[in-house]
Amino acid sequence: MTQKSSVRVRFAPSPTGMLHIGGARTAIYNWAFARKSGGSFVLRIEDTDPTRSTEENTQIILRAMRWLGLDWDEGPEVGGKCGPYFQTQRSETYLAALEKLKEAKAVYPCFCTKEELDAKRAKAEAEEGGYAGYDGTCRHLSLEDAQARIDAGEPHVWRLAVPKDRGPIEFDDAVYGHMSFPSDVIDDMIIQRTDGTFTYNFAVVCDDTNMEISHVIRGDDHLPNTPKQILIYEALGKEIPVFAHLPMILGEDGKKLSKRHGATNVEEYRDRGYLPDAMVNYLALLGWSLDGETTVIPRDTLCSSFSLERINKKHSIFDEKKLDWMNGVYIREMDASSWVLAAAPWLAQAKIDGNNVAAGITIAPTPTKEEQLSALKITRVPGCDVDAQIWQQALRDVSDNADFYENLYPLVAERLVRFDEIPAKLAYMFWKANVCLDQKSVDKVLLKEGARADEALSICRGVLEGLSGDWNEDDAMQACRSLGDAAGIKPKQLLQPLRVAVAGNMVSPPLFESIKLLDMNDVLARIDGVCAKVFG
Ligand code: GLU
Repeated sequence: MTQKSSVRVRFAPSPTGMLHIGGARTAIYNWAFARKSGGSFVLRIEDTDPTRSTEENTQIILRAMRWLGLDWDEGPEVGGKCGPYFQTQRSETYLAALEKLKEAKAVYPCFCTKEELDAKRAKAEAEEGGYAGYDGTCRHLSLEDAQARIDAGEPHVWRLAVPKDRGPIEFDDAVYGHMSFPSDVIDDMIIQRTDGTFTYNFAVVCDDTNMEISHVIRGDDHLPNTPKQILIYEALGKEIPVFAHLPMILGEDGKKLSKRHGATNVEEYRDRGYLPDAMVNYLALLGWSLDGETTVIPRDTLCSSFSLERINKKHSIFDEKKLDWMNGVYIREMDASSWVLAAAPWLAQAKIDGNNVAAGITIAPTPTKEEQLSALKITRVPGCDVDAQIWQQALRDVSDNADFYENLYPLVAERLVRFDEIPAKLAYMFWKANVCLDQKSVDKVLLKEGARADEALSICRGVLEGLSGDWNEDDAMQACRSLGDAAGIKPKQLLQPLRVAVAGNMVSPPLFESIKLLDMNDVLARIDGVCAKVFG
């Protein structure tokens, strides 16, 4: 019989917001560590803050986890032996743990009111140069007094009686190494509040013990909680797990990653057309490395090679340009049919944009860099500004005509960085006989002095019109070139006008490959229309 791994890890998001980049990386490390060690990956929703936790955020987190492909072995929707997996449903387990602590006299009731505590704090800050924590007033009450006050219904919290002679709290962090915190600065922390709810550190420790978590892998913003949690483990008489605290992810300016740096939540990346595999690969490298140099690490390799030992102590920088590069690599490694499946919404958008182009031949000002960027944002996809029926139709068209769409893959695969570039790059494939000409391309290619663009177009048109059957792209291009040569027109001068007339722009995917996929009558009509418009 094979020995079952005893590794049990958890990802424990609070649904007070969406799944952000840092949380996703924590989830990936836990998941990869569980997969590597044949252990279990538990998802626990820490929804104890009623004012900030929402069901909607929980759903967004679960959806983002699924999108990233981080399957959990136990947790919401899949259940498991240690459920329920929502903290709000686990109060009984916290109560039971508190009862144990009461029996062991490891906790005491505290009747100090908020006003009293505030006054003590203010006094300490004014007269003693700082507040050293709760002074232990109620710790010294006799058992009888305390019980009498409880019986009389006096509001109280329960505090952990931090052992006085405890000495420093030490542990070996799997990332940061040996850590030591003096215990005498640790307050007798509140475990249960006056209203009966439990505090964060207590709930986490109860859950981690009851869920038999062996390794706690989480952001290093939780490092200050760890000594407090260790005291709770000790009071409960439970085994302390291995801790691995992950260094922060910073923005390119070296500051904590935040909204200022642009998108920080995972679904924004999904909506901009990043692939989940590329995201997982890129995020995994923010603080971990396979061998210090390999950058493209497919999911299976991550799962077979992940180790806590190779997590870096240094903070890492989230560099969107590197993520873009990585996404491009993954796009190029796809096959055409999976590309169509993954890019379907953006392909649908390309069709809608192409169909919506103004009738006839129009000339549009060349967009500025900012306009190009904002165009990328609005060509999003479910929920974009498109009538639902048109949207559904366009999506259906992608799945019904997958062969056609698969042929678009080689046109763009080499240069595509994100899927949200697809509509702008491929709308011309849906223009039919219409063309939207880019002003700069008109000026630089069609109207440039001495360019002989009208002659070039007429030569190319002649060749295209004469093609029949299963014509070959290279042969057609050669035929144009030879005629151009004979007329004394250089290849670039000959073909750029054709590119502008067909795709509207001097920069486009491969020209003859595009023409091959278009209806030749539309191509000829575009050339005729452009000649009439530009050369009158
Ligand atoms: N719920 C905590 C958070 O979202 C994580 C707690 C933990 O990992 O111990 O930051």
